[in-house]
Amino acid sequence: MKYLSSLRQKNFNGEICLLRVDLNITSDKGLASNPRVFEILPTIQFLTKRRARVVILSHRGRPNGHPREFTLKPFTNILSKKLRKNVRFLDLNFKKAAGLIKKSSPSGIFLLENLRFLPGEDKNDRKLAKRLASLGTFYVNDAFAFSHRKDASMVAITKFLPSYAGLLLEKEIKNLSLTTKKSKHPFIIILGGAKISDKIVLIKNFLKKADYFLIGGGIANTFVAAQGLPVGDSLYEQNMIPEAQKLLRSLKIILPQDFVVKNRKMLDIGPKTARNYGAIIKKAKTIIWNGPMGYIEDKRFRKGSETIIKAIFQSRAFSVIGGGETISLIQLKTKNLKLKTNIFISTGGGAMLEYLAGVKLPAITALERNKKSLP
Ligand code: ADP
Ligand code: MG
Repeated sequence: MKYLSSLRQKNFNGEICLLRVDLNITSDKGLASNPRVFEILPTIQFLTKRRARVVILSHRGRPNGHPREFTLKPFTNILSKKLRKNVRFLDLNFKKAAGLIKKSSPSGIFLLENLRFLPGEDKNDRKLAKRLASLGTFYVNDAFAFSHRKDASMVAITKFLPSYAGLLLEKEIKNLSLTTKKSKHPFIIILGGAKISDKIVLIKNFLKKADYFLIGGGIANTFVAAQGLPVGDSLYEQNMIPEAQKLLRSLKIILPQDFVVKNRKMLDIGPKTARNYGAIIKKAKTIIWNGPMGYIEDKRFRKGSETIIKAIFQSRAFSVIGGGETISLIQLKTKNLKLKTNIFISTGGGAMLEYLAGVKLPAITALERNKKSLP
């Protein structure tokens, strides 16, 4: 794979970079402080400092039927402010867009409208990829969080242009692979969130490598049900019970000893469990955390996850944390995430889980196969 960072010495004058990022944030609240926005700024600055013109590409949501709600327009101002440079918005009129881009001066920045307004984008359509590619002279993928998907702007586009991994994609891969290659023990995985079916490949991949799995959230409920114990009206996955029973044969799977229960629902891990998990985290040398320990949308059921955050932030373990809800809770709780160098916050949810599970991500494979280089 070719990394953009290897082109530090290059002057990109005359080149046009199609920069694929992941601005797939569907709620309009808190856009400016979302890590998916600020984490792509270094790549844009890297390119414009070296005089490349940059056309930012992304999708947003699944716009079938309600296109305008999913416009990328709100990001134009946000990016302009953060970069202290004028970012120009482009509609999906390729001829007009090409004209404006070609006329612009070096270091100009554009944002193209939501690619999923185009039929074929989510089908990895080759013709669409070719039309897109005609807007630029090279391609950079900085959309790690979307690299487990096969969209035209993620995969097929690499057939037509010299293609590179951006700074964020590189950072993600390098940090995540530390947990698989050089993990120190005790190595623990903290898993919560809604569904075990989302995370089962990760458990299986690390069953040998990790020492403990600390389980919480809806996943814990499924394990409890798999033991034949009552779960009341709690969230759990009936169809995953056989799989959960198989996993329970491993002594590495640690389940909560107590729960916070309300209206016959197990909505958080209990105080004893939180204390016990905290003590295990303190001794760990490598940690992966994905998925909250409880129904965190309600403050009353956040304590378990808050204890986990505190323990990880006090620990000196190398920690990797990811997942949409998990990260938003951390953001709510901590102001200075950047101060701790032993904690890596991934922008990927599903992509992080698949990457860690050892699955080949299609967009990364596409970059690896690309043999074209810039002159
Ligand atoms: P992430 O986005 O961090 O990967 P998930 O999407 O897997 O996490 O799961 C997050 C969701 O799981 C949250 O919306 C949370 O409310 C829900 N959840 C966790 N534990 C429970 C529980 N015990 N009961 C109901 N919902 C839960
Ligand atoms: Mg989620």
